[in-house]
Amino acid sequence: MTVAGFDIGGTKIAGAALASPGGAAGSAVGLGGSSRRAETDVLVRSHRPHRIHGPESLVDAVEANVRELDEQLAAAGQPSIAAVGLGLAAWMTRDRETVIWAAHLGVRDAPVKRMLEERLGLPIVLDNDADCYLMGEDAMGAAADASSSILIALGTGVGGAYVADGRPLIGAHGLAGELGHVTVDESGPRCSCDAFGCLEAFAGGNALRRDAASVPAAVALAPDGAPTAEHLANAARAGDAEAVAAMDRAGWAVAAGLRRLLPAFDPEVVVLGGTVMLSCADLLLPVIERELGEHAPLQGVPQPRRLELARLGGHAAAIGAAVLASQR
Ligand SMILES: [Zn+2]
Repeated sequence: MTVAGFDIGGTKIAGAALASPGGAAGSAVGLGGSSRRAETDVLVRSHRPHRIHGPESLVDAVEANVRELDEQLAAAGQPSIAAVGLGLAAWMTRDRETVIWAAHLGVRDAPVKRMLEERLGLPIVLDNDADCYLMGEDAMGAAADASSSILIALGTGVGGAYVADGRPLIGAHGLAGELGHVTVDESGPRCSCDAFGCLEAFAGGNALRRDAASVPAAVALAPDGAPTAEHLANAARAGDAEAVAAMDRAGWAVAAGLRRLLPAFDPEVVVLGGTVMLSCADLLLPVIERELGEHAPLQGVPQPRRLELARLGGHAAAIGAAVLASQR
C-alpha cells in the first residue's frame, strides 16, 4: 500500500509518497503500528507552488497534487495512493476534522477532512505542520532512535510539537505543542499571539527581522534596506557586536524555552529545525548548548539532553503527514 503526505505552506506544497507496512513496496517495515520508516521507503516526492485561498481551492490543489504524485508512482511501477495525510499551518479541532483558522490559506471553519474525502474517495488525515514535521523526523530523521522527542522549529514564527511512541500530543483544544508560545520573559516584545515575551517574539524569523532593522551592519547588507534574519546572521558572522548580541538573544530564548519544557516533557531528543534554525545553527547552537549546560533544570539528575538538528529538509512534514495517514 502507498500513502501520501502533503505539507501545505504559505506558497508551496511539498509531497511525498511512502510505502506503507503491508505493501509489497515497503522495505524496513516496523513492527505492528510502528511509525518507523527508512528513507528508502520514500518512493516519490513533489514540490510545487500553490495559490490556495479558501477551502474549495484547497481541495482543488490537494486533488491536483494527489493526481501528480499518482502519475509519478505509476511511472515508477508503484501502487497508487490509498490514503492521504495533510500538514497545514492551521488551528484545527481536536478531532483533526475541521480547520478552524488557517490564515495564509484563507480557510476558516471548514470541514476539510470531509470535503477531501468526498472529493478524492480516499481516507484523509489532517494535522498541523509542526506535528507532521516532528512525525517525519521521528519516523526516519533526527529522532528516529528515540521514544519521545520535542521540536522547536524556527521559521517565520516558532513551531513546536511533542511526539511520544509515534504519536503527537494533541491537547484539549488541539493546541498542545505550541511551544513557540511558551513565555520566556514577561517583559519581552509582543508576540503574534498578543502575549508578551513568548519564545516566538525573540527567536522567530519575524522577530529577527524586527531586530535586524535596528542593526546598522545588517541594514547595510540588505540591498533594499530591509534586512532579514539571514542579513542579521551574516553581520554576526562578520563580527558586528550588535548583530552577535541579537543572535545570542535568540539562542538564549530557545534555551530559556527548553528550560521550561524539559521538565514538563522529559523528551529523549530535542529536534531543532526550521529554516532560520538550520541556516543559523553555527550561531545559535553553541549558545543554546552553553545556556542549557549552565542553567538546565534538574542538574542533579542524569539526562542525555540530546539536541539534534532536523535532517529531512523540506519534505519532513510531508513525510510525517504520510506516516500519520498510514497509522489511521
Ligand atoms: Zn505568543
